Amino acid sequence: MFGMLKNVLDNLFSKPATRLYPKEKRPFFKDTRGSLEIEIEKCIFCGICQRKCPSNAIVVDRNSRTWQLNQYKCVLCNVCVESCPKKCLISKEQFNVPTTYKEFYIKKQEVKDEVQPKAQAAATNG
Ligand code: SF4
Ligand code: SF4
Repeated sequence: MFGMLKNVLDNLFSKPATRLYPKEKRPFFKDTRGSLEIEIEKCIFCGICQRKCPSNAIVVDRNSRTWQLNQYKCVLCNVCVESCPKKCLISKEQFNVPTTYKEFYIKKQEVKDEVQPKAQAAATNG
């Protein structure tokens, strides 16, 4: 009886044995590979990541300036991150969100006209 009472009191005044998820989330371990991201503005579309990828998850098209990743093929080995000459691939801790349909994760390079063409500038200025 006293043994049981001691257990009850111990449990009442001690911290929970488990984490109160989802209120209290566990921090990621150091160097967790959860998802692959690209800083597309730094990419030069050299295609090295595509050639090095062991699971053919990346498709780079220099002409259309697109970089595509098939998340379902990527095994997060980090080879592309380590071989990218522009260091624009990043292995993030956050895991990809689950989806109910197959989709490609596509990021496209946006070409911005930073320099106004001479003919257009002349027409604008009169
Ligand atoms: S290796 Fe880097 S710079 Fe080259 S295409 Fe891949 S992401 Fe872009
Ligand atoms: S992390 Fe590995 S598997 Fe995933 S895209 Fe990069 S090279 Fe391919």
